[in-house]
Amino acid sequence: MHPESLMMSYGYKPELSQGAIKTPIFQTSTFVFNTAEEGKAFFEVAYGLRDKGEHEEMGLIYSRLNNPDLEILENRLTLWDKAEDCAVFESGMAAISTVLLECLSPGDLLLYSSPVYGGTDFFIKNILTKYGINILGFRAGQSKDEIMELVEKSGFKDKLALIHIETPANPTNALIDIEMCREIADFYSTEENKTLLAVDNTYMGPLWSHPIAHGADFVLYSATKYIGGHSDIIAGACLGSKELMGRIKGLRTFLGNMTSPWTGWLLMRSLETLKPRMETQARNAAKVAAFLQHHELVEKVYYLGFIPKEDEVNYAIYKKQYSSPGAMIAFDIKGGEKEAFKFLNNLKLIKLAVSLGSTESLAQHPATMTHIDVSAEDKKANFITEKLVRISIGVENHEDIIWDVEQALNSIK
Ligand SMILES: *Cc1c(COP(=O)(O)O)cnc(C)c1O
Repeated sequence: MHPESLMMSYGYKPELSQGAIKTPIFQTSTFVFNTAEEGKAFFEVAYGLRDKGEHEEMGLIYSRLNNPDLEILENRLTLWDKAEDCAVFESGMAAISTVLLECLSPGDLLLYSSPVYGGTDFFIKNILTKYGINILGFRAGQSKDEIMELVEKSGFKDKLALIHIETPANPTNALIDIEMCREIADFYSTEENKTLLAVDNTYMGPLWSHPIAHGADFVLYSATKYIGGHSDIIAGACLGSKELMGRIKGLRTFLGNMTSPWTGWLLMRSLETLKPRMETQARNAAKVAAFLQHHELVEKVYYLGFIPKEDEVNYAIYKKQYSSPGAMIAFDIKGGEKEAFKFLNNLKLIKLAVSLGSTESLAQHPATMTHIDVSAEDKKANFITEKLVRISIGVENHEDIIWDVEQALNSIK
């Protein structure tokens, strides 16, 4: 069956919970063993001291290791990306930082796309380097040859352990070819050390892009965004093969950065409406983008639905990787910060806030907000200018969103 048909029931057995139709919130720290022998058996499997027997069910021990709400949620999330396994985290940053820490050792090289989400950028530049990890950024739009030349020149090409990319890149929807990154990873892989590829799919997943199908080892999410979808929780997720996720879950156990049962339960509730929410958001976004494109005070609209066929490289990546133009729009207002701020200050329905993917529409100014910390050079190269505004389109009636955008634009005059 399709994932949207299974979001209400998959992995949950009502008979284990008094017939309750919904998974109860297992708000408990620890679980009672029937016998000491059973407790011993659970620990042996949890700590990898022996493999699970053929008919053996993994028992519950302690909510930092496993909890029914998290296990059912993780099973449901695997369906969208056709992943073998999933781990949920207390934030998107927890998911990302745990993957980076698990896959990189002192002396290794991390290759990453730039710009990435501000928190990821900070973690890479300021935390990973503290542990002797070498870092190397490349920009969306650079060719395979150009990127490989950067790796060759870095002096650490034999140590390339992980490639981390974010596509479409925030805030202008710039695209990166996942299969190209897989080829680069394979080129630098050795028998003993496989170069791994992680893709932050927050902008387009889990509905419209499935990086594992294009060769990614890890798919990462800020579940705070579309998956949570209601601006009321912070959460994250990582998906991949059973083997790799075993390593990620192992580190999660010791960092203790798993989701809480309550947040896990809320995420399951959100997953039931994920598809209708995202589809409404994408439909609205197409209408808002079309309106913006023809407004006299708008210079340029960054929206995946507007990539011209003549832009062959980007058009091909778009067609290959995405099944929708998504619901994120950025645009250049004629003028600069003054005009952009006037627009933002005059919005009535759309909220002036960072974050994205929620039921309500949100607008912000990347250059002075989400991307304030990006270097002037990177800002310029990535079109993060003073006139750029980013909007995350919600599920409101599109006529009301457009009315709001129009009156806020007209207030600039
Ligand atoms: C928000 C976001 C993150 C960080 O997620 P948190 O849940 O805020 O920790 C990472 N990547 C992208 C693309 C994001 O938008």
